[in-house]
Amino acid sequence: MEPLALEINGVSSGYGRVQVLWDVSFTVNQGSVIVLLGANGAGKTTLLKVIVGLVKAWSGEVKAFGEDIGRLNTARRVRNGIAYMSEQGIFPGLSVRENLALGAGRASKAEVRERLSLVYDMFPELVERGKSLAGSLSGGQRKMVGISKCLMAKPKLLILDEPSSGLSPKFVAEVVEQLHTLRSFGITMVIAEQNVSFLETADSACVLEGGRINFSGGVDEFEGDEALHAAFFGLEGIQEV
Ligand code: ATP
Repeated sequence: MEPLALEINGVSSGYGRVQVLWDVSFTVNQGSVIVLLGANGAGKTTLLKVIVGLVKAWSGEVKAFGEDIGRLNTARRVRNGIAYMSEQGIFPGLSVRENLALGAGRASKAEVRERLSLVYDMFPELVERGKSLAGSLSGGQRKMVGISKCLMAKPKLLILDEPSSGLSPKFVAEVVEQLHTLRSFGITMVIAEQNVSFLETADSACVLEGGRINFSGGVDEFEGDEALHAAFFGLEGIQEV
């Protein structure tokens, strides 16, 4: 059996003396997509930063592809195949092509060509945008560049922090569509979100509330849970007003 892409066991963490995460556990199978849902301040970003090594776990275990990565720094985790898109995601003052090149790090020219070709297969509209300033693109296209920049690192696991942030509902729908494409290419993803639209492209969901997981299961199970469904679809309703 293939090892899990990600295994979080009993992770607690925080800043200084302030605890933000409490005994968080969940797993992600290779090739599958999980959405971490939670309101502002629930601890989603902190959890993602623990996974990529930007915030230390106080206790518990973080494993990727069967290896305990808890002691590795962020650069090592990236080399092990983990890519992270923060809420900002891109350098708006650089061209699309320059953003993508940065994502490739120290890859050889041949590798860059190969990865660019995969990115262009996924997102053909980027081909014509190479020279455009990333900041001049539409909200949806900017996210496409941010996601593609991560893909240029050839990740085995893609971690996305609130890809809907700052976007109108129309552009959110475009980003959900982009992630559908990634999923069809077999990319394993962890998506932190407040917006339930991203469940459309997920296999499973976790709900983080006050730094604790209070639901973990399949998307069908989430949608079948009336209380959760009402709480989160209510939240989406408020966002879209
Ligand atoms: P948002 O969607 O608003 O980013 P979130 O679910 O990602 O919310 P976090 O950003 O992880 O939540 O924040 C969780 C808690 O940790 C909040 O109470 C926040 O104020 C606190 N926090 C976040 N970053 C820091 C920091 N650098 N120092 C101290 N406290 C922090």
